[in-house]
Amino acid sequence: MTMPSWVSGDEGKPAPMPLLLVQSFVNTWDGDRNSDLLLDPATARDWLTEAGLWNADRAPDPAELHRARAVREGIRAMLIANTGGPAPALDDLQPLQAVAQTNRPALRIEQNGHVSLAAEPADGPEAGLLALLLLIRDAQRDGTWPRLKACGNPDCRWAFYDRSHSQVGAWCDMATCGNRIKNRRLRQRPR
Ligand SMILES: [Zn+2]
Repeated sequence: MTMPSWVSGDEGKPAPMPLLLVQSFVNTWDGDRNSDLLLDPATARDWLTEAGLWNADRAPDPAELHRARAVREGIRAMLIANTGGPAPALDDLQPLQAVAQTNRPALRIEQNGHVSLAAEPADGPEAGLLALLLLIRDAQRDGTWPRLKACGNPDCRWAFYDRSHSQVGAWCDMATCGNRIKNRRLRQRPR
């Protein structure tokens, strides 16, 4: 399967489309490489435009990028809960609440009778962020959401899709994060 251009080359456990978009948005921050695609306005515009989350000609301003990163970290907190971590704190969810409260999706009846709910195009990041929330809602309804997780390694937190039958996967990659954490625990174990 060829991946869309907006998916990281490091994506070892990709979610099915369209949830892959939420996963890739979370993975615009790469703790391992200490890189963030939503920091520099030009870089952010390129990524967001390719991903279909931005349709203005201008680049996002610093305040808009700050909001987008806050939404990203709120989603990450939800994915940590999916990995068996604590439920997201109210503070984590607040940026998502703000998007939900200030933007209304549009309900449309298409020619073939299909009823769709979509974010209205807007000159700002709101439409894209709202589109991500709608994807999360769909995934929560179709049952794929609990499989989208954040790596159990606190230094990593990479979003991965757990395809295992038992759904107990906790690492983005067993060879790197899984063993790293297990070795650390072994060393810390009292003798
Ligand atoms: Zn990891």
